[in-house]
Amino acid sequence: MALQKDTTITIIGAGIAGAFLAILLAKRGYKVIVYERTSENELSKNASSRSFNLTFYSYAVSVLKKAGIWEAIEPTLVRTVGSITQVTQDPPVSRFNPTGAPQYVVQRALILKTLINEALRFPNVTFHFSTALVALDRKEKTILIQDLKTKKHQTVSCDIIVGADGVNSQVRLFMQQRQVTKHIQEYADWEYKQVSFSPERVKELGFKENTIYAWTRKHAALLAHPNQDKSFSALLMLPTNPHYGFQSLASKEVIERFIAKQFKDLLPAMPEMAHDILKNPRGQFVTIYTEPWYYKDFMVLIGDAAHGFSPFYGQGMSAAFTDCMELDTLIEKYGDQWQKVFATYQENRKKHTDALADLSKETLRLYIRYKKADYGAVYNKVESLLSTLLPSIFPTPASINIAYDPGHTADHVAKHTKQRRLYKMLGISLLVGVATGIIGLHENITKALHSKH
Ligand SMILES: Cc1cc2nc3c(=O)[nH]c(=O)nc-3n(C[C@H](O)[C@H](O)[C@H](O)COP(=O)(O)OP(=O)(O)OC[C@H]3O[C@@H](n4cnc5c(N)ncnc54)[C@H](O)[C@@H]3O)c2cc1C
Repeated sequence: MALQKDTTITIIGAGIAGAFLAILLAKRGYKVIVYERTSENELSKNASSRSFNLTFYSYAVSVLKKAGIWEAIEPTLVRTVGSITQVTQDPPVSRFNPTGAPQYVVQRALILKTLINEALRFPNVTFHFSTALVALDRKEKTILIQDLKTKKHQTVSCDIIVGADGVNSQVRLFMQQRQVTKHIQEYADWEYKQVSFSPERVKELGFKENTIYAWTRKHAALLAHPNQDKSFSALLMLPTNPHYGFQSLASKEVIERFIAKQFKDLLPAMPEMAHDILKNPRGQFVTIYTEPWYYKDFMVLIGDAAHGFSPFYGQGMSAAFTDCMELDTLIEKYGDQWQKVFATYQENRKKHTDALADLSKETLRLYIRYKKADYGAVYNKVESLLSTLLPSIFPTPASINIAYDPGHTADHVAKHTKQRRLYKMLGISLLVGVATGIIGLHENITKALHSKH
């Protein structure tokens, strides 16, 4: 299919999705212009409030290899060896790679800087940092952008606009105006702040290298990821209610009491934790189901602008990569029939990203639970145990299939639902219910005994 290489593609947002798509489109010979409201310096700062850690699985590795940028990205990654989780104040549970599926962690700023540098190797790509989209005229095919340093506005004509501007996408708002639109935007009743542990503090706390740590409590949870420089970056999560939420942690004294009660092993890190809790902004966990993802042959959404997940299923970045790969494949197939490309892209992708959004919500619920006796969590463990012990009878759990192949999440979920129906008929669901009851009873008795002493 002949391509119109004189078409200019304007991408709004140089996040993971925007930067990666710029590479794929540049390879195809398109002229690509990216507008990003954050400054280049801020975008690549690890300490920036936007630089949390991203975990991902082998699917993202295969995509990066396909795009020819794995060699550049690999040095920025930590390959994790497992996790240590402590639910309530019980002894921690170690899981050192139970599935064999490799998991990686990377600081958002590091991978983003590398993606942008890779995109800039192409002469047909231009990035404008500190430049925000302020308005968009679908009819005139123009955008109004503002240089945030000079405050000057400029109207720019566009052939194609890609909205890669994240969960609070402006492009999405302008695009869906006066179109039949379905939009659900849900906020979890937990929030987060970023907390960092320096390499020296990590040594003092005795954290193991390349290991993910999680502590879950009734009214708090902390999830820490290792970095290459031996520091750890963590998300402290609290309920949104004023009693247990971040509003209640308004002074160093209160924070010290909070850490002593909830995470007493981390007390040596109290000065840094207090500093970060008092300084860093609160973040929300947003889930978005939205459509349409495109407008005629002119505009399309990718990444978090098209689908927002809470991060606990670890698939946000991979979903953004899959969007870009799908668009790339469809451009290969349909060339410059943009409306066909965009409509097929939404058709092929949306069911899978909706399924990922559902799974991410469920995983957030499992993360913040403070009881081991959770039917869903026990069932997941039983399934994974059965498939390890008797792989010829019990199939690989859906979570592992999705880790390798998130692009077909809805299909894996459908298969899993069918499997669960079979388990129900075999009496496995009943056994899981009984096991959950026994674990719950044990938990309650242990709690009662402890409170007597
Ligand atoms: C705390 C947290 C933890 C996460 N953990 C994981 C994880 O472990 N694994 C995983 O796979 N995913 C994770 N994610 C999700 C992941 O970060 C995203 O799904 C992924 O990065 C895709 O991002 P994106 O490029 O679509 O959007 P973003 O990364 O949000 O990028 C959008 C860009 O657009 C820019 N922009 C916005 N508005 C404008 C405008 N008007 N004009 C110009 N530019 C604009 C923004 O400045 C930003 O740079 C996490 C997310 C959060 C918040």
